Amino acid sequence: MSFAKREYEFLREVGIGPKNLGCYVNGVWKASGPTVYTVNPANNQAIAEVVEASIRDYEEGMRACYEAAKLWMQIPAPKRGEIVRQIGDALRAKVYHLGHLVSLEMGKILPEGIGEVQEIIDMCDFAVGLSRQLNGSVIPSERPNHMMLEKWNPLGVVGVITAFNFPCAVLGWNACIALVCGNSVVWKGAPTTPLVTIAMTKIVAGVLEKNNLPGAIFTAFCGGADIGQAIAMDTRIPLVSFTGSSKVGLSVQQTVNKRFGKCLLELSGNNAIVVMDDAEIELVVRSVLFAAVGTAGQRCTTCRRLLLHENIYQKVLERLVEVYKQIKIGDPLEKGTLLGPLHTHASRENFEKGIQKIKSEGGKILTGGSVIPSEGNFVQPTIVEISASADIVKEELFAPVLYVMKFQTFKEAVEINNSVPQGLSSSIFTRKPELIFNWIGPLGSDCGIVNVNIPTNGAEIGGAFGGEKATGGGREAGSDSWKQYMRRSTCTINYGAELPLAQGINFC
Ligand code: NAD
Repeated sequence: MSFAKREYEFLREVGIGPKNLGCYVNGVWKASGPTVYTVNPANNQAIAEVVEASIRDYEEGMRACYEAAKLWMQIPAPKRGEIVRQIGDALRAKVYHLGHLVSLEMGKILPEGIGEVQEIIDMCDFAVGLSRQLNGSVIPSERPNHMMLEKWNPLGVVGVITAFNFPCAVLGWNACIALVCGNSVVWKGAPTTPLVTIAMTKIVAGVLEKNNLPGAIFTAFCGGADIGQAIAMDTRIPLVSFTGSSKVGLSVQQTVNKRFGKCLLELSGNNAIVVMDDAEIELVVRSVLFAAVGTAGQRCTTCRRLLLHENIYQKVLERLVEVYKQIKIGDPLEKGTLLGPLHTHASRENFEKGIQKIKSEGGKILTGGSVIPSEGNFVQPTIVEISASADIVKEELFAPVLYVMKFQTFKEAVEINNSVPQGLSSSIFTRKPELIFNWIGPLGSDCGIVNVNIPTNGAEIGGAFGGEKATGGGREAGSDSWKQYMRRSTCTINYGAELPLAQGINFC
């Protein structure tokens, strides 16, 4: 099997060949599971061959990863930060090539592919600073000659299971923080993006090797649900960070909880943009375009519901339909393309089923609504007028389909925003301070991400990222998310000769 000439150049730059071994186990590339072909969503042609992990590979990798954690956690945190700094630099050197690979294998447009790699670089920078700020606290003790303090210790091994739509950025949110916190990482990427898993791992492995550190500190597997389940069941993994659908996330959580492990869940979104009648229309149109069409509607933060105040309903809608008709659809690697293909042929079929359901539930297609005949998985960007109470509106249809609804009052808009099972991202467009503060307040949006005058997607890494309800409640990336990757030791130290008991208890 050979590559297309144009693709070959950047694949080689990130260590991908026509045949690839899909496990990085104890510092060695190997694999004894099934062989799969990874395909380009723009034409459904094979890009390269990958041998996936078997359960035997998993066991060997986990054993080494568990042992490596004991060494890694004893290295001072700022020194661990230095390793993550080097990973960031190694990524900087390959941002363009890795970004191309993300675009080729996942199907997102090139600026988004490069942006995804940039997000990990940003995470590395954040984590380097953090490595000198994993601060505990000193708490006043009620007992004489006693001191209470809180110290943060590493967990051991952190398991990371990721979804296809961000084949490496989500690894970055987790791994950069987990590593500076002193944990080794075991990663299973999405089964349809194994080349990104391999290329990303090669970059991390190169840095570990250069520093004479065990490769098992970062262990990676290409594979599917069986490897994911093995991670969920593994008592050597105290924290499993799972990104994916709510359905699979729930089952992973149940498995992890059964063994008293902890889960960090980043699941489905069903995100709304609310537009009040004082909103600046052009800002709204640009924001909705990026939020609803970016990544072909396959971001967890994609805007799926557009709630328009009745006074500006027609105006915004007309403008949006006009803009949608000009969207350039095509090869995601080509300059100027705004809408690439859906990730798989199955996603294309889901789109078709979704459109059928929309129609059967009374939805009116204003533009789009069809697959585009081609060898790839292209579909039309679609706008639908539909009732907020339709069943399909409660689901996450992972495609560029935007539901538009009318409302009269702010209260009604908030109710609609909060009426779906998911609670990831939300945004309001208004300049009125009372609405802005009510929107971000206790009776406002119930989501984890509550924006004003910007789209629902495109979060910065400095804030904690995640959502409520069926989105799973996890928080990753910035702010104080790091605390989830460590265990808190509350230490009371008696440096006196007496034994006074708390609450004044006399026990003799
Ligand atoms: P998915 O649930 O099908 O798969 C996610 C991962 O879970 C994959 O690596 C898959 O191999 C693995 N997996 C499948 N079955 C498993 C099992 N039984 N046990 C353990 N692991 C298993 O999701 P997907 O289709 O890859 O991704 C799309 C979904 O991810 C969407 O719902 C999207 O909203 C969500 N997502 C959420 C966020 C977020 O931050 N909230 C980010 C990205 C994607």
